[in-house]
This record gives sequence, structure tokens and C-alpha cells, in this order.
Amino acid sequence: MPGVTDRVIVVTGAGGGLGREYALLLAKEGAQVVVNDLGGARDGSGSGTSMADTVVQEIRDAGGTAVANYDNIATEQGAADLIKSAVDNFGTVHGVIHNAGILRDGSFAKMTADNWESVQKVHLWGGYHVIRAAWPYFREQNHGRVVVAASTSGLFGNFGQANYGAAKLGLVGLINTLAIEGARNNILANAIAPLAATRMTEDIAPKEMLDKLPPAHVAGVVGYLMSDECTDTATVVVAGGGRVYRVQQFQNKGAVFTTPPSIDEVAAQWNQITDMSGAEPGANPLG
Ligand code: NAD
Repeated sequence: MPGVTDRVIVVTGAGGGLGREYALLLAKEGAQVVVNDLGGARDGSGSGTSMADTVVQEIRDAGGTAVANYDNIATEQGAADLIKSAVDNFGTVHGVIHNAGILRDGSFAKMTADNWESVQKVHLWGGYHVIRAAWPYFREQNHGRVVVAASTSGLFGNFGQANYGAAKLGLVGLINTLAIEGARNNILANAIAPLAATRMTEDIAPKEMLDKLPPAHVAGVVGYLMSDECTDTATVVVAGGGRVYRVQQFQNKGAVFTTPPSIDEVAAQWNQITDMSGAEPGANPLG
């Protein structure tokens, strides 16, 4: 039975919220899951083992297979140790869900370098470290699945989340290139932009909205992106509260200048340059 049966899947930040749901579902569907969580607070402070341990116990109690891992995926060593844990316990790694995340919100005017850097380190650098550590196994076995946690805050912007939005859209840039470089080795790289009631959103969205956003609604979508059936790559999917849809970049025909245009000539063509009617999916003109 394909799906995710017997696949070894690493889920970062799986000690609570969305990651926990991903881990529970994958294990229920027969995957061997590494439940990674540093066990700290929402802002990234602190650490502990109980979050990952609790999820692993839940999985085992339900008859599934999982091991806990408490490494900090924001570091190269932590990510290497995490992937080593998958290999030591289950022989290889078939998939990585880079879901770990922290929040350090604040308007850009008040955005300190520390709050900027901490968020980049966990989301963007963490993605780089964990996927990079798994990449040789994916290539060697001609099979790999990557899902990164993006966000509508990165895709569309959100007040107070300049650091977070930049990191999240950075992850979309990452999977776009991983999809190209991984194609010949059957490595697929996609992004989920979830909407769910977790500790991350508990004081951000109104309760009436959060009541309609149980994290379990997102897990099946991520599970599909991890599965053998999935053939899509470089796809960004928004999922929450039962609605699942794709977000993609489009480009229009624009304007063509045969000589370097003056500012006035650009201004004269601005409507043509920005009008998106008739736009089509975008592509790298240099690719
Ligand atoms: P969450 O806080 O419950 O989960 C994040 C987990 O990551 C926590 O358990 C935390 O301990 C862990 N973590 C943090 N730093 C870590 C590190 N350095 N190493 C290992 N683990 C670490 O929040 P969530 O809502 O479940 O978020 C999961 C992912 O989804 C995050 O990347 C988040 O940005 C993204 N996301 C969530 C929403 C939403 O609506 N909840 C929306 C958009 C994006």
C-alpha cells in the first residue's frame, strides 16, 4: 500500500499545534515518524523534552511508530543530529516537513535585529539546515518529499510580521529551486500555508474564527504532499477550516521598450505594465 506507509518522515516542531497533527496522521497511515521539538515557548525561549515525548507516546498508544527528538533545528548541528536520528532509528529519511516556527511580532519601526534574526534562524535557516541534511539520502534513493510551512503573512503581508513574512516567503523561494534541482531524483518540494488554531494564533485571530480552524483540517493536505501519489512540486497550498486552495504567481504580457525607456516613457506604459488581465502562470525567463 503506497501513500506514506513505511516512509520515514521527519516533522520539525511536531510537539504541538499543526506539527503534532501531521505526526499523528502520518503515523496512523503507517509512516515511521521522527517527532522533533525543541520544547520551548512561542517566542523561541526555553526548551524541554515533554512536548515531543507526549506526541510520541500518543502515537505509540495508537499503535504507530515514532521516536522523539529534541534538537534545535535552527543550528546546523541540531539539524544534522535530527536527520541522524531518523537514519539510526529507521535506516533512512524519505520526507521532511519543516514546520517548526516561532513568533517575534512587532511593527517594522520597532523590529529589532534580534527579533529579525531569531525568526530567520528558525524558519528559513532551519529549513535550509534540515533539508540539506536529508538531501543526500533523497538523492541516493531517488525519492524525497519536502514540505515547508509557509504563511499567508509571507504571501500577502501582515502588520507586525515583517520578520516572519520575509522568512516564510523565503521558504517558498527555497522550494522553487529545490523542485528544479530535485526533479531528476524524484524529489518533490512543496509549501503549505496553514490556517489553524494553535498557540501561535490564539491571541492573533478572533475566537469565533479560531473555532472553525482545527489543525486536523490541514494534516491530510500535508500527508498527501508527503505521499507516493503526489507528483506536484513547487506548489503552494493554503489550507484551513476545510478550504484548500492553491496560490501561484502570475505574470502579464507587460510592455516592451526597444530602447532604454525614460521615466516618462515608463509612466506612459505603467497601466500596460501592471494590468493583470489575461495574465498567465509566471516562469523564470532565465531558466
Ligand atoms: P506552534 O507554536 O504550536 O508550533 C511550532 C512548534 O515548533 C512548537 O512546538 C515549537 O516548540 C517548535 N519549535 C520552535 N522552534 C524550534 C526549533 N528551533 N527547533 C525545533 N522545534 C522548534 O505553532 P503552529 O501554529 O502549529 O505552527 C506550525 C508552523 O505553521 C509554523 O511554522 C508556523 O509559522 C506555521 N503557520 C501556522 C499558522 C497557523 O494558523 N497556526 C499560519 C501560518 C503558518
